[in-house]
Order: sequence, then C-alpha cells, then structure tokens
Amino acid sequence: MKFEFVNIPQLGIARGGRRAAKPQYNPEKRYVFHYDVREHLIQPHVVKFSGGRSSGMLLLALLNGGVLRADRGDVVVFNNTSAEHPATYDFAARLKKITEQEYGIPFFWTEFQTYEDAVNGDWVRLPSYRLVNARPYSDKNPDGYHSGGEVFEELISWKKFLPNQFKRICTAEMKLFVTKEFLRDWFARKPSIDRLGHYYEHSMQDNETITRLHKRNGGATPDNILLQKTAYVRSRPTFRPHQEYATFSELSGKVNNSDLDGKQRGGRVALEGDHCVDYAAFVGFRGDEPARLARMKARNYDRVELDNGGDPHIAAPEGEYVYAPLADMGITKEDVFAFWRENKKHDLRLPHQVNFSNCVFCFLKGSGNLVDNIASREKVEKRLPKKFQSRPDTPADIAWWANIEQKYGRDLRREGRTINSETAGENPIVGFWGMNGKLSYKQLAESRCKPEKLSIIREENAALPCDCTD
Ligand code: SF4
Repeated sequence: MKFEFVNIPQLGIARGGRRAAKPQYNPEKRYVFHYDVREHLIQPHVVKFSGGRSSGMLLLALLNGGVLRADRGDVVVFNNTSAEHPATYDFAARLKKITEQEYGIPFFWTEFQTYEDAVNGDWVRLPSYRLVNARPYSDKNPDGYHSGGEVFEELISWKKFLPNQFKRICTAEMKLFVTKEFLRDWFARKPSIDRLGHYYEHSMQDNETITRLHKRNGGATPDNILLQKTAYVRSRPTFRPHQEYATFSELSGKVNNSDLDGKQRGGRVALEGDHCVDYAAFVGFRGDEPARLARMKARNYDRVELDNGGDPHIAAPEGEYVYAPLADMGITKEDVFAFWRENKKHDLRLPHQVNFSNCVFCFLKGSGNLVDNIASREKVEKRLPKKFQSRPDTPADIAWWANIEQKYGRDLRREGRTINSETAGENPIVGFWGMNGKLSYKQLAESRCKPEKLSIIREENAALPCDCTD
C-alpha cells in the first residue's frame, strides 16, 4: 500500500555543526537536522508519539527525512492511557501502519499495568507495563488496547488517590515510567519481555494485608474506604504475560547496534548510572510553545526534576537527550493544521477546533477547554462515522470523570475529618482540582444542559502546562 503525503517538512541530517537561528517555517524550504552532540548519531532514537497532530507531523518529518533507522534500535512509542478519543486510536493505528510498512521502523503501543508479587513476605501490587496491539481489547483479542478508562482507573485504584496539578501521577506512571520500563527491555535486544507475577489462578492479596500495609506506610484512610478504593486494581490481572516483540511489530528483530553491547544486566539495561544506555528522544513540541521547550532544555542540561527533589522513579533518564525538531523548524500550531489540511486523507478525524487530544477531559486542559469539549462532543460526534463515536461512561464522556472523582476523591466527611465548612461547601470531596478548587467534574457534568452555568465555570480554571498534550 502506498501512503501519499504532500508538504512533509523536508528534514535532512547534518553530522554536527551549528543550528540555524530559529527560522520561520516555510514548507517549500529544506531544513537540516543538527545533532547537538555527534555521538547522538549512533545512539538509538526514540520517538515519543502522543497521539496528536504535532506528534504525527514530527514522526512523518523524521521518517521522510531518513532520520530514523531500525538497525540502530530506533523505535516509536505510544503510551495508551485508555482515556483517548476513539479517533485518536484510529490516527495512532494508521500512523503505526505507515511507520512500519512504508519506512520499516518499529512502532509499539504500551499500557501501564500492575501485577501481584511477594515482597518481604507480603503479596503486593507492583507497577509495570504491557505491549498491546492496535486493535481494541476483546475476549478474542486479549492483547488489544483498552479505551474504556481501565488503565487510568487501575492506576488510581493502585495509588488510592486522584492525580492533581501538583501530583501528576497519571503522566508520571502511565507515560514517563512506562516508557522507561519499555526502553529498559527494548535496548536489551531480547526477542521478548518476561512474564511478571505469580502463577496462582486468583489474587493472593487479602484485606488484612492491604489495610496493615497502608497503616504501616503512614496511611490513615479508614479500612472500609481503603478496601473500596483498592477493589478495582485487585480485580485486574495478577500477572503480565510473557510477550514476544514480533507479535506486536514484525520489525522488532532488526536491531544491530554495537553501542548497545555490554549494557545488559540481568536481562535488561539501565537508564541511569555508569553503564546506562544513552539515546536521543524526539518529541512533537512546536516553535510556539516556548515554556515547554524551556522545560525540555532544562531537562537536557540540568536534570532539574532530580535536582529539585523529584522522584528518581519518574525523572528523565540520565542517558536521554531530547530533541524537538518541529520547534527548531519554527513550526507553529497553524503550520501543523495547514499540513494536515493538505493531507486530509490521513488526518486525525476530529475537527481542528476541538481539543480532544490526549485524555479527552484532562483536568489540566482548563475549564474553558473542558466546557467547549462538553458543549461540542455530541455535535462533533454526530458528524463522525460510527466507529469514531465515543461510548457512554468511557473517558470520552464527562460522566466517566465525574464518577471517578466521586469514587476515588477523598470524602472528608466519610473519613471523619474536621471540615472547615466555609471552604468545603456541600460536597467536601478532594477531587482533581483539590479540596477548595471551585471546579469538579460533577459540576461540569451537571451543568451540561445549562449554558449559563457553563459560562461561569469557563472563567474559573486556566489551562495548565501538561507535557502530555499537543
Ligand atoms: S493528558 Fe492529562 S489526564 Fe491524561 S495523563 Fe496527561 S496530565 Fe494526566
């Protein structure tokens, strides 16, 4: 099958040398991709595909420019949160096909998952990931991707609290952690990833262990609430199966990079320390996102997350060096839209005006975008083919978020806490926007049919930087 694209940014490779000053993008012009350090040319390249249009344009520019090579260990990774819009899954599946069939570069979809194992004599749930194929999960396709919020809820139920702007456990675990774990296996150049977890047919965790360990770790949630919150993760698979890369990408056996030799320890590689694997990562940040770029550059040079007391479990790997070629070319959001307008046949099947990319109702999108998403979802979806229409009670529906917030938010009254009634209001749930946040998903869901309420809510929470989105 031939995939025809027009106006893909023309990206050639320079083996060192200086970057040009930030240009104004011109699709007619040829751009040269400069490595900041010559050694990066021989290191594996990892493209972090987020599911959005900028990411898709970046991927095509890298493929078309010959920047990626399968024998070097280059790979494209998409971390599925199970909270994307159906059209995003379709877009990611089409780009996987193009990447692999047309350009011979492996493209993997991954998902966060937990598994049960014994640690110091207790059965606990530990975090990991699995590979999934680009078709929906079903009994007939158990390796398929999830799209009903299963992955997201498993994470929250395992953590026992909701993500918020200060603790973005969703990005940290479902994206950063999963990518790191995947690369530790991928760079080891084995044909498969190992089974994790015990061999019993049922969960070995009991209520007593859950409540005892919670208290031992300083937790104060009453037992009944704790057991309710952990019920979902305990219902999830107890093990991660042995998985062959070839099942998920036929191109997985092509790596032949001596730079990866001698790095394996215990069947995996390290991404930190003296023997870590160094690699070049590519993200779809654009030229009109200076704040995100500044954070990325700081990561490259200072590793600020760790210096500021960040969690080493999720901080940027020591050997990772991030490039943002779209930003280097001066590509803006408008340029990305123009590119996809020219390539309509391959575009994400969602209107440019809506912000459904990444988790559809992400709490960091800001109330204005959330209100717009609520108002436009039905209208937009009516015009989409049936397979791109979202199902009720999945993360493409605001009701799913309202339910998750009620289920996993901290209900201070139920927990028997002292409540400052002035600030707590009638519904003292510590939700995605915190206790005193003026916003909740319940409020958003209830105001669906009341435009006057929506316009008040619209003003209340600005969008916050979320490096998941593009
Ligand atoms: S898009 Fe938002 S909700 Fe989804 S993982 Fe990123 S920060 Fe979390």
